[in-house]
Order: sequence, then C-alpha cells, then structure tokens
Amino acid sequence: MKAAVVREPYGVENLKVEEVPDPQIGHNAILVKVNAGSLNPVDMNAIANRTVYGIKPMPHIVGSEIFGTAETSGRTIKEGDRVLVYPRIFDSTCDNCLSGREYLCRNGGIFGIISNGGFCEKIAIGEQNLFRIPDDMDDDLAASLTVGALTAYHALIRAQAKPSEKILIFGGSGNTGLFAIQIAKAMGLEVHAVSRKEWVRDYGADYVYEKSEIPHDLYADIVINSLGSAFWEDSLNHLDTGGRLVTFGVQTGVEGSLKLSSLYVREEKIIGSTGGSRKELMDLIRMAKIYSLRTKVHARYPLERIVDAVNEFPKRENGRIIITMKQGS
Ligand SMILES: [Zn+2]
Repeated sequence: MKAAVVREPYGVENLKVEEVPDPQIGHNAILVKVNAGSLNPVDMNAIANRTVYGIKPMPHIVGSEIFGTAETSGRTIKEGDRVLVYPRIFDSTCDNCLSGREYLCRNGGIFGIISNGGFCEKIAIGEQNLFRIPDDMDDDLAASLTVGALTAYHALIRAQAKPSEKILIFGGSGNTGLFAIQIAKAMGLEVHAVSRKEWVRDYGADYVYEKSEIPHDLYADIVINSLGSAFWEDSLNHLDTGGRLVTFGVQTGVEGSLKLSSLYVREEKIIGSTGGSRKELMDLIRMAKIYSLRTKVHARYPLERIVDAVNEFPKRENGRIIITMKQGS
C-alpha cells in the first residue's frame, strides 16, 4: 500500500509517499481503509522530530487525525462502518487509564508519534480506538473531530465552562479555535475570538478582534491560549478575577512569564490540557449533529501530494488542510 513515510534525518525533504507492506491484523484489531485526515501541528512535529519522547518506529508513517471505513468486523465495529480513529495509544491498565484519562496513559502516547500514523491506505488498530460515526456525517468534519474538535472540547471541559460565562479564544480561525468557538457558543457562553479573519463570526463568535484591538477593559472568565508565547501576556491581561486560562499549544513559543502575586491575589487558575478522553470523543460525535458542528477547509490534497500539503500548512489562511487517500479499488 501507499503511505506518507518520513525517514532520518527527518524534515519535509525526507518525507515521501512510498510503497510499504500492508498492515498485519493483530489480536483484537480491525482493518480500516483510511478515507481522509487533517494536518495538525502534531504532524509537523513528527516530520521535524520535534517531540519530547521521540518518534517510533523509524522509518515512520505520519498522520494523527484520520477517519476511515472498517474492512473487518469485531465485537461492536462491523465491516462497512465509518469510523473515527481515537488518536492515543494506551494500555487500559494504568491508574490514569482506569480513571478515564487514557490520553495521559503512563505507557502510551500519541497515535502517529509513538506508533505509525494513518496517512496511508490502510491501518490495523484495536477496536478500543474506533468510534462509529453516522453515514451522513460530512467527510471534512469526520477528518477534523479526533484532534481539532476533541482538543477544543476537552479544553472547555478542563475549564469547567458554564453558560453565560465570557470566553476569549486566541487563534479563533485555527484548527482548534474554530471548534472552541462553535462548542462554547453552543454551550451558552459569550464568545470573544481573536483572529484576523472576519469569517470566524459565521462560526458563532459574538465578537472578533485582531490581537492589537482587543478592548482594554475586556476580562474573560475563560481564556483559551492554543498558540503559546506570543499570546501569553495578553492571555493573562484579559483574565478576569477568579478566571481560568487554558493552554495546550506552543506554535509561537514554549515560554511565558507569570506574576505570582497576581495569580493568588486574583485567584487565577492556569490549566494545562491535552487531547481528550474516549468518552469525550463519543460525546463529541453526538454533539456534531446536535450542534451542527462544521469545519472550514483551506485546501485538500491527495496523499501523493503530502509534501505540498505540509509546505502549505504554515501558510494556510482559511481553515484546515485535508489529506484524502485515493484508493486503488
Ligand atoms: Zn494507561
């Protein structure tokens, strides 16, 4: 089968679509024909080998966010089902897994980082990672739920978001921002988005500002910073007394300073967030229909043009980059 493979010494110049052996179907695994996926910062990190724990195996098939069609049956997944692939590898036995936090598994990690990913024609994966989706779910949305939407939803859960609260979302047009806006709006929050793109209003933002134009007197109960250093100071400056700042991405840098006195005098909370649980993904699949969630696509590339897609990623202006797997049959 064809697969997007990165080889040492890493980098997009060492990323190629090549012929690799078909996957072996192990015990309790389901064979899934991959339909499409989306590019995320996590894929950029895999390709560039910018990860804390290292990429394995090498050479490595990239791609963390995918959906497909089951080609074999298991206990609950049946041949022909459209399925999302939950993008975490976990052992189901450690204390974090047992408390419903398999995304923090002590012996696990991210699908596509600590295991081969899914930008290829077929994968074999345990049934515990597969979630059936309705036949009428839009393909682009299906390709955006397991990383983009799940990360956003989990961040709102971590923030204990409540109706009528004010939320300020930096990176409103980004992979996760677009979903944070829609879900926060659907949950009844007043949504303030920071973006240069006016179109984020169409996704539920009540107010949209460029970074330099955020009102000085705007204080939010919840601030979402998925972008890192460049927005850190603004994130803290616009956090209301008793507010919660949720952070989960570092595209603009990994460091930020903090006034400890402000933290305790104002009882602010800074909350880290990563991925999401399988239960949250299950909820999200239902919410997709109830809340009419949608994604926005900047461009679609067939698997053969993965290198063009990766080069386009930092330049994207209007939503997601979708990778489609054209199948031989
Ligand atoms: Zn575990």
